[in-house]
Amino acid sequence: MIIVMDIKSPEENIAAVVDKLESSGLHAHLIKGVERIVIGAVGDRGSISSMGLEVMPGVISVVPIMKPFKLVSREAVDGNSVVKVGNVKVGGRSLALMAGPCAVETPEQMFAAAGAVKASGAGILRGGAFKPRTSPYSFQGLEEEGLRILSDAAKQYGLATVTEIIDLQSLETALKYVDMVQIGARNMQNFRLLQAVGRAGYPVLLKRGLSATMEEWLMAAEYIASEGNAGIILCERGIRTFETYTRNTLDLSAVPMVKSLSHLPVVVDPSHATGLRKLVGPMSLAAVAAGADGLIVEVHPEPQKALCDGHQSLSPEEFSKLAGDIKAVAAAVGRLV
Ligand code: PEP
Ligand code: MN
Repeated sequence: MIIVMDIKSPEENIAAVVDKLESSGLHAHLIKGVERIVIGAVGDRGSISSMGLEVMPGVISVVPIMKPFKLVSREAVDGNSVVKVGNVKVGGRSLALMAGPCAVETPEQMFAAAGAVKASGAGILRGGAFKPRTSPYSFQGLEEEGLRILSDAAKQYGLATVTEIIDLQSLETALKYVDMVQIGARNMQNFRLLQAVGRAGYPVLLKRGLSATMEEWLMAAEYIASEGNAGIILCERGIRTFETYTRNTLDLSAVPMVKSLSHLPVVVDPSHATGLRKLVGPMSLAAVAAGADGLIVEVHPEPQKALCDGHQSLSPEEFSKLAGDIKAVAAAVGRLV
């Protein structure tokens, strides 16, 4: 069950609802959004109907939710959530462009990448400083030094930032430097990390796990939301299938499906989804046509020299052309870039 309350509700009205729920043996999860306060009540449904919550001051509605995910479900919030990352709004009518290299390598590389993606209309700069590589012998990232470079390059060009965190320590470090943290596919079901990100209250980009169903992905988002963090952006990045010509299989059906189930914004990562530079453009356009709220694209000033994922990274020129094509598709489906 979800209790929706007026955003202007005084603390005592919120506390009264929480007390009522908890004294009936339910757990109350409070989320203060931009437009509404939502209290998720989890527990035995039998006692709910007789509680009289509807008439308590500040309560707008009481919504029973049968799905396993509650706070992130569409029933919990009117319309689509908008998540603010720095000054960039993700969700709503505008389409968010996030771009940058797979990994932060040098200041020169990041400043060149930042300048290029900004010139093409991106609002958020990506750059990995903690790299969860499949091989322990591959480049693992510059860690805090990388975050410093990412943040400096973004500041220079007026961009917001996103970086992946892989554990509690990297989360703590990243919060000092970036506007949004990313939970990667490999950590989508690292429940302690999800809870910590939930408590941190920072915007989070939650990637779909390599073999996760949409429901498992939404339950991962629920872990974050249940700790009070409403700033969640879901990212479809391809799933593991029997196909070998592509790195993963981009599940574009997840975009409209998940958006029908959840109020959270959904973005697409065509780079990790395909693993092939030549497929990044067509899949980006298809994602926008399918209703994605944004894209996160790997762009490197010199892809052939990249320490990580160069084969799927666009050059600045390729990204600039793609950004123009994206604008045309976005306009056709009523979105603004
Ligand atoms: C990334 O975005 O750098 C990354 C490693 O992605 P994923 O977790 O989707 O593999
Ligand atoms: Mn990568």
